[in-house]
Amino acid sequence: MLPFKLVYSEKYYLPIGEHVFRADKFRMIRERLLQQAVVAEGDFISPQPASEADVMLVHSPLYVNKLMEGSLSAREELQMEIPYSPQVVDAFMLHTGGSILAAERALQDGMCVNVGGGFHHAFPDHGEGFCMINDFAVAIRSLQKRGLIRRAMTVDCDVHQGNGTAAIFGGARPDGNPLPSSGAMLVQQAPVMTQGSSKDVFTISLHQENNYPFVKPASSIDVNLPDGCGDAEYLAWLDNALSSGLRQFQPDLICYIAGADPYREDQLGGLNISIEGLKQRDEMVFRAARARDIPVMSTFAGGYANRADDTVTIHCNTVIAAAEVFRTAPSQTPR
Ligand SMILES: [Zn+2]
Repeated sequence: MLPFKLVYSEKYYLPIGEHVFRADKFRMIRERLLQQAVVAEGDFISPQPASEADVMLVHSPLYVNKLMEGSLSAREELQMEIPYSPQVVDAFMLHTGGSILAAERALQDGMCVNVGGGFHHAFPDHGEGFCMINDFAVAIRSLQKRGLIRRAMTVDCDVHQGNGTAAIFGGARPDGNPLPSSGAMLVQQAPVMTQGSSKDVFTISLHQENNYPFVKPASSIDVNLPDGCGDAEYLAWLDNALSSGLRQFQPDLICYIAGADPYREDQLGGLNISIEGLKQRDEMVFRAARARDIPVMSTFAGGYANRADDTVTIHCNTVIAAAEVFRTAPSQTPR
């Protein structure tokens, strides 16, 4: 048995047909974890779909109505890069409910993994890049609304920048002016950390600079990595971003977006991170949280390896890393 729960439903499957986004990966992750006896059936809990009211804590009523009524324009559907259907909307509502449940359980158990979610390219008024609803942003707003948390931090390690999340939580400086896009500001080859504004949610994104999205709204900390970045450099930048973020901001909850696509054999990624490097990345995030007694909820986001098996291995390793870190007593690291 794990020292925390995994949130999963068979209905996480997204009926999007033949697609680079393997919508069956959620089921494959569950099966692999059970097969390898990393987890037991009793470790899984089932989510309920998020309500429309929950989703509207982040997304505009106009956009939510379009999703519910099936009235997205052709352009809006194209921008989503997945085909629209009411069944796809239902699946996203369930992933979102899963992230809400995972965040609640994280507060109770210290850790929880949603075996899904991580749809960080969804903006308040539109979806893009395979993302319809920003599940973990909804979870944060839902917990804040109920007074369960005050402040949250997102740690986004998908290879693609968390543009939707940045737009949701960091859209304006205190003077109300929109932040300039970091993509437009930063043209250096070396990784650069930029710092934007933050109020009750602090957003960190560690991503490949020369990749989608080409306009990158500013996160609280953006680490723009060069093409081909390897394990040592990647882990050093993550360490740097985590230490810097946690020095500036003390969250009541960390939402970790554990994308598998920084992997060197990913079809949509251009970094050079090994499977072992990605597991070390997961451990680093979990240790940083555990040392400070900050609850973590983890979501999976992207993963498009040439071999789907590798994507599954990387996601399963996130669960294994969490089990290793959360089975041990928290370290005595001062807060
Ligand atoms: Zn991605």
